[in-house]
Amino acid sequence: MYFWHEADFEKLRTSRQGQHHALLLTGPPGIGKSAFARAWANALLCEQPGANGHACGRCSACVWFAQGNHPDFRTLIPEALDPNHEATGKGAKPARDIRIDQVRGLASFVSVGGHRGGSKVILVDPADALNAASGNALLKTLEEPAGDTRFLLVSARPDWLPATIRSRCAVVALRAPGTEEAVDWLVREHALTKTEATRLLAAAGGAPLRARDLAEPALGAAHRLVLDALAKLPQAALIGTAERLAAVEPAQWVAILQTWVAELARVRTGAAPRFYPEQGARLKALAGQTDLGRITDLETRMRRLTRHAEHPLNPKLLCENALVAYCSLFDEDRSR
Ligand SMILES: [Zn+2]
Repeated sequence: MYFWHEADFEKLRTSRQGQHHALLLTGPPGIGKSAFARAWANALLCEQPGANGHACGRCSACVWFAQGNHPDFRTLIPEALDPNHEATGKGAKPARDIRIDQVRGLASFVSVGGHRGGSKVILVDPADALNAASGNALLKTLEEPAGDTRFLLVSARPDWLPATIRSRCAVVALRAPGTEEAVDWLVREHALTKTEATRLLAAAGGAPLRARDLAEPALGAAHRLVLDALAKLPQAALIGTAERLAAVEPAQWVAILQTWVAELARVRTGAAPRFYPEQGARLKALAGQTDLGRITDLETRMRRLTRHAEHPLNPKLLCENALVAYCSLFDEDRSR
């Protein structure tokens, strides 16, 4: 886990909440929630945890955990995010949600006692990838946990989870590091200059792992492509722009579009841009062509879009629709 979560770890360890059989770890994307969840799971399974509650890293449980084969640890993650998932045949895209058979596969794991006589741990990451069927199936196990079974659910969008699941969990809000901490980390661990680290951290909305990803040439280039395309609208041809954007992962361009619209709102109220200060002049010009009411409406529509971005049936159409909605911000006759 990341050092900025040390205080959160200690607080959870020494609180009653830490004993809860189901924890829902929340916080913005890109702050290290998954790493925290794994460290917590490892600590629960460790046979000789240190005085600070962390896993020792040396006992047989820790060795198994590190190798990914502790018998009392299971993960539920979408195939698309699972580095160990092997593609099955041509054309079969890995699933982006957690499927019901994955949850059903836990039945025997939950019903027998732990192999090592201690806790059994199930990590669900991201928990918002549960669909209606798999969420329902998981709910049954959450309601009647067998033995010492601990659930760790991770989600940046806990409001997407069924209320029935949320209400069974103790919610733990993990904090994002301060700007200085995050910039220092990017400089130290990822060999960025302070200026570059500061710029990327701002573009990543303060999330250091996102900023680190943006420093990757391919991702950074995709990010610049989207930003550049957005800045040229509504003057640029919409269809051409949609084609360029459709080449980028939907979740990525949707996130940038949302941030861009949030920036427009901020600039419209007279505040300075927070994420894309280098686009300040362009944002100001665009904000002058619309009004706050329309921007707020669009933000609401964009929130719905995030959900579709996870499972787009037709990525290009999704893109065109989003850009039509965006460009309508600047329609002079205000028709939409
Ligand atoms: Zn250990």
